[in-house]
Amino acid sequence: MANEANGVQIYCTDCGTVMQGWKETICRCGGTWDVRRPIASMDGERLRRLFDERLGQRSGVYASGVWRYRELIAPELPEEALVYRGEGNTGLYDSTAAAQYAGVRRIWLKAQSENPSGSFKDNGMVAAVSHGRSLGNKWFACSSTGNTSASLAMYAAWCGLQSLVLAPAKGISPAKISQTSAYGARILAFDGTYDDGIRFLRQSAEKLGLYVCNSLNPYRIEGQKSIVYELAQQLDWSLPDWIAIPGGALSHVSALGKGLEELFALGLIGRLPRIALIQAEGASPFHRMVQSGAASLTPEPKPNTRASALNIGNPPSWRKALKALQMTNGVTAAVSDEQIMAAKRIIDRSGIGCEPASAATLAGVLKLRTEGIIDGDETAACILTGNLLKDIDALHELYENAGDASGGTLNVERVAELCSVQASP
Ligand SMILES: *Cc1c(COP(=O)(O)O)cnc(C)c1O
Repeated sequence: MANEANGVQIYCTDCGTVMQGWKETICRCGGTWDVRRPIASMDGERLRRLFDERLGQRSGVYASGVWRYRELIAPELPEEALVYRGEGNTGLYDSTAAAQYAGVRRIWLKAQSENPSGSFKDNGMVAAVSHGRSLGNKWFACSSTGNTSASLAMYAAWCGLQSLVLAPAKGISPAKISQTSAYGARILAFDGTYDDGIRFLRQSAEKLGLYVCNSLNPYRIEGQKSIVYELAQQLDWSLPDWIAIPGGALSHVSALGKGLEELFALGLIGRLPRIALIQAEGASPFHRMVQSGAASLTPEPKPNTRASALNIGNPPSWRKALKALQMTNGVTAAVSDEQIMAAKRIIDRSGIGCEPASAATLAGVLKLRTEGIIDGDETAACILTGNLLKDIDALHELYENAGDASGGTLNVERVAELCSVQASP
């Protein structure tokens, strides 16, 4: 759908080549594609009114928290190709517990975990599947650490398309695979990593007639921009000092940076928040690159973190991520699995809950606060990327002893003891 007539171009962020038609997942030079839109010629005030008006929609395409912002995401796609399941529209929670834990003035938890398939991947996937559908594709594929596959399988099932998921046989949450399987995807488990799956798709997707829905697909990024649009809209078009997000393949941070740049250029926000990108220590090649000032990313050959959604050693979007950081005067941090699980406890106990990867955000804000990079008087939004139920094993590890499976009789004394209350005679 690259169509220069409506001012939209898909170009390579490395060599600048403009894509003709839709063929490759990456440019011949190895670079990633990005969509360029005529933002400078758009009327920000008109868009703000339009986006605010659409908040009243209860059904149809514009009730979607992604397509509400269609003008900035994919106006070039015909309306009949657009898929929607009411994605986005997720809660924003002002959490005193999280702010106290991290020692900052205020923290909002943005629960992307409330998406229809339970993760923020829906925000981007809905745009990619709509684009692939507009081109008449039948088979949609991805390599996945779990949530991408669940999201793709959900949308494919919903609009009668076929999905293929390449899944590393080890290290993926069984709940995510079961969810993907429930939606009817073909799942190919293989010995290897997410990165191997990506390499395979780069080489063979075209041969097999597969439309690739990984974040190499620039429409994934276009859709994911809606997260920061919605965050801004929920806060009446002004953003906190910091936005903290977890980083794996780095598509999320790329989209966040791009979305922020657009909001700012359109005059919809008056200043740019700083991005805090948090990686897990066992899978932090991007953080190491930024720390060392190296000019390019050295992949981590054996990524290893309990936060399975972050277990990526060779993030394809690192150049876009770097651009996002530079534009917002952003920072990176790496946190240990223990720090992630401790932060998860706080988020779970607050009544919101999340999977381990998402808790890296709060752990990261605490770490950056401790290092004096975030000030105690500042505010932050933590993007909770995945749902509490996405990783049941993590729940067993953290809360194993919550129930006593041994049975016994049900009586007043036991309940009184459990709740530490006195039963009246
Ligand atoms: C995919 C995913 C991430 C990482 O996002 P990237 O765009 O790959 O950096 C973080 N958390 C969850 C729950 C995810 O599913």
